[in-house]
Amino acid sequence: MGGGQLGRMFVHAAQQMGYFTAVLDPDADSPAGRVSHHHIHTDYTDVDGLARLAGLSDAITTEFENVPAPSLENLAVTRPVSPGADAVAIAQDRIREKSHFARCGVECAPYAVIETADHLAAVPSDLLPGILKTARLGYDGKGQRRVATRAELEAAWTDSGGVPCVLEKLLPLDFECSVIVARSEDGQMVNFPAQRNLHRDGILAVTEVYPDNIPKAAAQRAISAARSIAEGISYVGVLCVEFFVLADGKLVVNEMAPRPHNSGHWTMDACDMSQFDLQVRTLAGLPLNPPRQHSAAIMLNLLGDLWFVDGGEAVEPRWADVLALPGTHLHLYGKTEARRGRKMGHLNITGESIDAVRSTADFAAAVLGLPIPLSE
Ligand code: ATP
Ligand code: MG
Ligand code: MG
Repeated sequence: MGGGQLGRMFVHAAQQMGYFTAVLDPDADSPAGRVSHHHIHTDYTDVDGLARLAGLSDAITTEFENVPAPSLENLAVTRPVSPGADAVAIAQDRIREKSHFARCGVECAPYAVIETADHLAAVPSDLLPGILKTARLGYDGKGQRRVATRAELEAAWTDSGGVPCVLEKLLPLDFECSVIVARSEDGQMVNFPAQRNLHRDGILAVTEVYPDNIPKAAAQRAISAARSIAEGISYVGVLCVEFFVLADGKLVVNEMAPRPHNSGHWTMDACDMSQFDLQVRTLAGLPLNPPRQHSAAIMLNLLGDLWFVDGGEAVEPRWADVLALPGTHLHLYGKTEARRGRKMGHLNITGESIDAVRSTADFAAAVLGLPIPLSE
């Protein structure tokens, strides 16, 4: 379900193991649909489309957390669906997601639910300055507004159309990290190392993974929190949990994604199994082995902005100059039109030591016109 780049990379991993794939996406020319054996382009709720997908499939997964949960329930009547509709429904709604984190004993940023004007009036002042986030459908920082005062909060909620939101206290972040786990139907669970992430303008820009990229205690807490969050919903599939590490060292959970995640793309070139390989294994009911990282890695997200660094018309970046650097692995998603802020691809850089990888990454960033330094 879903034809974006995550679906495309899943399809590649599945096909590598000899599976046939079918993709359902409303777009007739989606990145995953284009490389799949079958492509159904109907709406996610179209009963005929869902029936065709079920007819073609032995098992069904999703690459897109906003697939309507009832459609997953519909499919689950006749086919194994992972992750299940329940888990996806929780991840689709920040309010339910935060309650789930609390149930698992994992702390998130102080917040208030705003569903009515009364809730708005009752918001405690110590949540300001904060970030107002729509409960549903936000991604890449869309659907979020930073608010410093009550008046700004009221205006932001009114601008949202009065939809259910959460107001989160703006926390002083030291850095951000995420953990990807894969859990099978029979409860076997494996995880990748904690990933250190840098966001720019609410969008992931850089992920770095190497020994001691994160203080050991924080990494261990993040891994055990991610595992208990998966365990707490008997999750089946690949799950990513995003965390904040605060200036005082405290770990706070941000949100989760019921699918492979942009911050796990480095696993494609720096591990013996990628997050997409593990998604295939969980879906097919195959054994899970703990993935092994064999190289230090930096992932650079390639947003459409790079096509416009000289202003004017879109110009393809100088890939050959980037690929001349050692340990560079280019992944482009086959999107025909570059737009600012659009995820067009990513560049993985691998090597024996993080110092070597970092100097290559800095070169690559200079060639591409990415802001340097890469990390803060
Ligand atoms: P994604 O594409 O990851 O799903 P999203 O739109 O769901 O993004 P969040 O992950 O909630 O957005 O927030 C985006 C970024 O904004 C975070 O990675 C972090 O850099 C910053 N941010 C979000 N909430 C807070 C907070 N409470 N305090 C400080 N910074 C925050
Ligand atoms: Mg999100
Ligand atoms: Mg996020």
